[in-house]
Amino acid sequence: MTRIDNHAIAAMTDDTNLVRLGRGEAYQACDTVNPPVWRGSTILFPTLAALEAAEAAPPAAHAPSSYGRQGTPTAAAFEAAMAALDGAFKGFALPSGMAAMAAAIIGFVKTGDHILAPDNVYAPFRRIANGVLRKMGVMVEYYPPLIGAGIAERLRPTTRLVYTEAPGSLTFEMPDIPAIAAAAHAGGAVVLMDNSWATPLFFKPLAHGVDVVIQAATKYIIGHSDALVGVITTTKDHWQTVNEAVRGLGYHTGPDDCYLALRGLRTMAVRLARHQETGLKLADWLADQPEVVRVLHPARPDDPGHALWRRDFSGASGLFAIALRPMPTAALAALVDSLSLFGMGYSWGGFESLILPVQPHKVRSATGWDETQRLLRIHAGLETPADLITDLAQGFVRMRAAL
Ligand SMILES: *Cc1c(COP(=O)(O)O)cnc(C)c1O
Repeated sequence: MTRIDNHAIAAMTDDTNLVRLGRGEAYQACDTVNPPVWRGSTILFPTLAALEAAEAAPPAAHAPSSYGRQGTPTAAAFEAAMAALDGAFKGFALPSGMAAMAAAIIGFVKTGDHILAPDNVYAPFRRIANGVLRKMGVMVEYYPPLIGAGIAERLRPTTRLVYTEAPGSLTFEMPDIPAIAAAAHAGGAVVLMDNSWATPLFFKPLAHGVDVVIQAATKYIIGHSDALVGVITTTKDHWQTVNEAVRGLGYHTGPDDCYLALRGLRTMAVRLARHQETGLKLADWLADQPEVVRVLHPARPDDPGHALWRRDFSGASGLFAIALRPMPTAALAALVDSLSLFGMGYSWGGFESLILPVQPHKVRSATGWDETQRLLRIHAGLETPADLITDLAQGFVRMRAAL
């Protein structure tokens, strides 16, 4: 099929022109700074020989797409950028962080396999474990987040995967990733890590023994609370397993969302530096309040995970938690309900500050958590730190009045 010739179509009917007009120039490179949002389901083959060559080709990590579900060049640009940032062989865009998690896990396991996951894992992980994995006959066992090399004792001959996250969701304990990875590999297991908190700017999982990384690009990568995207990056040894799962489950990530993720990367370093700085300032102020029993933030020197964070990470993002002493719900509501700069809602990593009461004891199954304390997860946004502290201070005054 020849490309569109705009001069030749004048004699055709409007119906035919509607199909053909304007498709010629669209393929010619215009040297914009950013790759375009490249939409497409069908990808045309110019000749029979090209079609047959594409059909005969074995799966290759960086082959061009032959159908839109595999992504257009917009997705490929984002995937290549993520692979390079992670020092990975291959990156995959997924429609959400949760989808990345599910595809990566399902790709590696079969009936009878055993998975080890930390008890502070991102809570919706348990939906995969209790749903699809249980139906497949795959068993998930939760381990204490600070187990370190002790993970060796939990490994079974059927342990296919050791899942990790650093720091863990809600409670921010810092695991020893290299020690867990070394023990897992000695036992023949593959190591997955959720690196959404640190991003590749502050932690490189593959350089610390991890095999496959999943990330919620929804958070810091997109950074503007306006889209959901997930990423899987993998070493060369495992890319085909991941590819089988991602393609076999039919995942596709829209080019608009891949574009937003790629654009988010451009400013991520400056945003993260600010999120980190503001997060630490808020944590300092909060630590001085008498109602705050503990600040859970591995970049603070008094945090139990600080030494490991210092050894392995080059920075902290803006997400942490505080534990408040036991108080009536009305006092907690007085604090969170009338803040003007902190929104209350799920997700994080956007430009705006968030505060969220969380209840880890309700999701944990292998380790306990003191349920009398009120835990607040805080995301430090890009507002001026002093304004955020003023807002929190007013909230604390209202909370005290309600006590
Ligand atoms: C939000 C989040 C996810 C899931 O990402 P979505 O894009 O919301 O599906 C996974 N892991 C962690 C640690 C998260 O915070």
